[in-house]
Formats: sequence, C-alpha cells, structure tokens
Amino acid sequence: MTTTAPTPTQFPLAFALTPSTDARAEAEREAILADPGFGKHFTDHMVQIEWTLADGWHNAEVIPYGKISLDPAASVFHYAQEIFEGLKAYRHADGGIYTFRPEMNAQRLQRSAVRLALPELSTADFIESLRQLVAVDGSWVPDAPETSLYLRPFEISTESFLGVRSAQKVGYFVIASPAGTYFAGGVSPVNIWLSTEYNRAGRGGMGAAKTGGNYASSLLPQELAYEKGCAQVLFLDSQEGKYIEELGGMNLFLVYRDGTLVTPESDSILAGITRDSIMQLARDRGHNVEIRQVSIEEWKAGSESGDIVEAFACGTAAVIAPVAQLRSEHFTLGAAGAPAGELTMSLRQELTDIQYGRLPDKHGWLTRLA
Ligand SMILES: *Cc1c(COP(=O)(O)O)cnc(C)c1O
Repeated sequence: MTTTAPTPTQFPLAFALTPSTDARAEAEREAILADPGFGKHFTDHMVQIEWTLADGWHNAEVIPYGKISLDPAASVFHYAQEIFEGLKAYRHADGGIYTFRPEMNAQRLQRSAVRLALPELSTADFIESLRQLVAVDGSWVPDAPETSLYLRPFEISTESFLGVRSAQKVGYFVIASPAGTYFAGGVSPVNIWLSTEYNRAGRGGMGAAKTGGNYASSLLPQELAYEKGCAQVLFLDSQEGKYIEELGGMNLFLVYRDGTLVTPESDSILAGITRDSIMQLARDRGHNVEIRQVSIEEWKAGSESGDIVEAFACGTAAVIAPVAQLRSEHFTLGAAGAPAGELTMSLRQELTDIQYGRLPDKHGWLTRLA
C-alpha cells in the first residue's frame, strides 16, 4: 500500500462558486462604471485559495466579496509576509475580455513568493483564478475607451503564531476593481522628486519582489515629494547613492537624441511587465535599447547637453507617465509643464492599442479570459 499522498499543487485546482446574494443591481454597477476612479470600487466576488504545509493549495473558491477574518496573531500583521500582483482585464470590440501577459505576472508572483518564503502558486492556477473571477464578474469590465478592470491577486501568511519563521498557513486572494482613465483629462506629464535621503530597497533585500513592505518604505519619501509638487519619487541605489533605480511603483526610461532607450539595471528594482513590453516594441521599431546602470550624473549631463530628450515612467496602472521635471534639493531637470515626449506618447499608443485589441497581437501577449 502506498503511503504517498498526492500533492494537490501538482494538479490544476477545481474552483467552487458561491454566488453573492447581494450583488449590486445593474443601475448601481453602471453608475460606478461611468466614473470608477482607481481602486475605489470592488466587484461582487473574490477568489480565495488556502494553503497549508500539510495539504498544499486547496479549497479554491469564488466567494462573495467581503471581509477576511484573521486572528490578531496572524503573522502577516506582524512580519509582513505579503506579496501581490497587478494586471488588467480589457474589453475588446469583439465582446471578449482579455488580459495582458498574465504568465509574466504568475512567474513574478512565484519569484516574489520565493523571496518572501511563501508557497508558489502554479502559473495555470494563477491564470485560472483570473478566469474564474472574470467569469462571474465580467459585467464589471467597463467598455469606455482606456478603461479596464484592475485585477489584484495577493498572498498573505494567515497562521496565528508570533514565532519568527515562514508561515505554515497562507491565503491567496484575487479582488478586482474597475479602473477609469488614470490621468483625468488626458495623459499629462508628471514631476518627480529625487530622494537622496531614503532608499526603497537595498542589496540582498526585497527590491525585486512585489511586496507591500517596499511600498511602506516608499510612503514617507512620497509624502515629501508631494510637498515639493511632485507626484512620484525617484530612488537611487542604496550602496553608492549614485545610480537611478525606479519610482515607488513604476519603472523608468530615458530617451536619447539618437533614439536609444535606456532603463536601469539593478538587482533591487521590480522587473515591470510594462517595461519589458516597451523594450520589445522599441526594438521592433529598430531602436537601440539598453538595460544598464545609469547614474544620476548621466541624466543631469544628458539633460543639460540635450542628449537626453525624453523621460517616462511605466507600470500597469498608468501604462506610461511622461516625466516633465526631475526635481531635487540641488537641481531641476526639464522645464515646468514640458509636453509629453513624442516617442513616449507613440509607444504608449502602440502598447494600449495592442492591449485593447486595436492592433494585431503579434507577440502573443493577450490571453482571453471570457
Ligand atoms: C508593479 C511595479 C512596477 C510596474 O510593474 P508592471 O508589471 O509594469 O505593472 C514597477 N515598480 C514597482 C516597485 C512595482 O511594484
């Protein structure tokens, strides 16, 4: 007789559905979708999957959106064992609902899990969890131009135990939030503040993982940036304070006069899927694209000489945000109210055209969810 129990994670999970009994009425949903904002409203359901050391992943469910009940000793509250993802579902003209490169998000969640000593969810189960949620809440995907349903998968340690070790009980969840145009009144360039006092991540730390802790560390510098009239903070490397890394939640590109795009190389930044996609689109157009260390001095000199002609930030939520000015205690680069760069805007257009099905998906980046 074999005593080896099957490992549940080896098989695709089967999802149970408990429909919500108080789903919003159509009129209420339509009112929300007409002006969704960002991250303010949530759909009627959510995904929940449990993991224990003994049983692996199990109890995959779509349940009514609602509160998560946790013991006050749950380790996520104390030791921040938490990771997340962010991707969007887009309604296409053919009526289908698609998402963009979800296998990249699945793999990144797995890498984040390894770094935070959390269990890895398979790529198949990750994508299935999105499909399952969109299957019941598909009517929450708005159809106005440049709107989407933002999907937020996350994983937390739920074990009640104050000892310091990785949790033996974990929950994976997916919630979804309709998203309007990120920039009210069109894409407008943002100012960013160079933080020389704070870093978001250090060598050997969690900078390459998508985890709440990195965001917590960016909030104080972000507040200081607001006071300086800047929407975002730019962090430097923590070792030398010399090389540019990324913003609190977005990657950065510089565009040179000869058409070269440069984005920082570092072990302590998050490898953005938007960043990767932009590099591909730029290479397809014949641009030279470099991932390498970029010092703040290089940006300063290039901006002053006219060699660096555009700068932009990128991430799923905003897609591409043109940078108007880089401000710091000691210098300011770029002109106040500078218009968005031409290449910046044309790459943004091409990327969103692919995401919304207005251009052929030549790299096979889209996955149909419903
Ligand atoms: C999510 C995130 C990004 C952008 O990644 P995308 O995959 O493009 O959305 C960049 N930096 C940080 C710190 C992030 O958390």
